Amino acid sequence: MSAETALRTAAPGSRARPHRAWIWMYHSAADPSDDPYGITVAPERLDLQLRALRRRGLAGVGVSTLLRARAAGRGRGLVGLTFDDGYADFVDSALPVLRRHDCTATVFVLPGRLGGVNAWDPEGPRKPLLTADQIRAVAAAGMEVGSHGLVHRDLTAAGDDVLREETRGSRELIRELTGRAPDGFCYPYGYLDRRAADAVRAAGYAYGCAIDPGPLLGDVHALPRTHISQADRSARLLAKRLRHEVRTRR
Ligand SMILES: [Zn+2]
Repeated sequence: MSAETALRTAAPGSRARPHRAWIWMYHSAADPSDDPYGITVAPERLDLQLRALRRRGLAGVGVSTLLRARAAGRGRGLVGLTFDDGYADFVDSALPVLRRHDCTATVFVLPGRLGGVNAWDPEGPRKPLLTADQIRAVAAAGMEVGSHGLVHRDLTAAGDDVLREETRGSRELIRELTGRAPDGFCYPYGYLDRRAADAVRAAGYAYGCAIDPGPLLGDVHALPRTHISQADRSARLLAKRLRHEVRTRR
């Protein structure tokens, strides 16, 4: 059963409410000293953050697992972990840390830039992206592979053809790569509107990850996420959790 079917068939009034699920957003796991966009967390800091999570009796899982568990009333101790852009450093720097803490994650990849670089960031240091083989290895390691579109375009500025390619086209390419059509889509730059969310739904994705979905909050195709940075230690993570609880209370 897909996560979306599980959600649809959840009893009315159940506690599934997908937008209330707490989902962490990471990008690159590497040395954060040259990091103008604040997207890099050192593997040692990721280790400390997951240790803090585990100490509170929580476990980090991919978003699809999280949504299914919530739909079945078993989501209480789970936090979603996501890695955007599909940086190649995930394999050597994030995966061993996730394994150490018995956690899984969703990795949102760009099948139109296999083995490429983050060319959409004008100022950031160039970082290599996962190759086709590495994406297959990530899936084989038990991680969820989701789509971040084809090449990291702003969907709110895309024409109909591009919107279809980025959503439906990237889903098909990932299915060819891993043998499994992805459940999850993640909006590049966190930019979305109703039209983009409808395209993601129509392409067959069970859920969509945003950052601050604004008026779309409450839609499973516009899930809010919490940016986790190099500066976050245990106390700041707790503060972020409280902020998440407040902003999704409806
Ligand atoms: Zn991105």
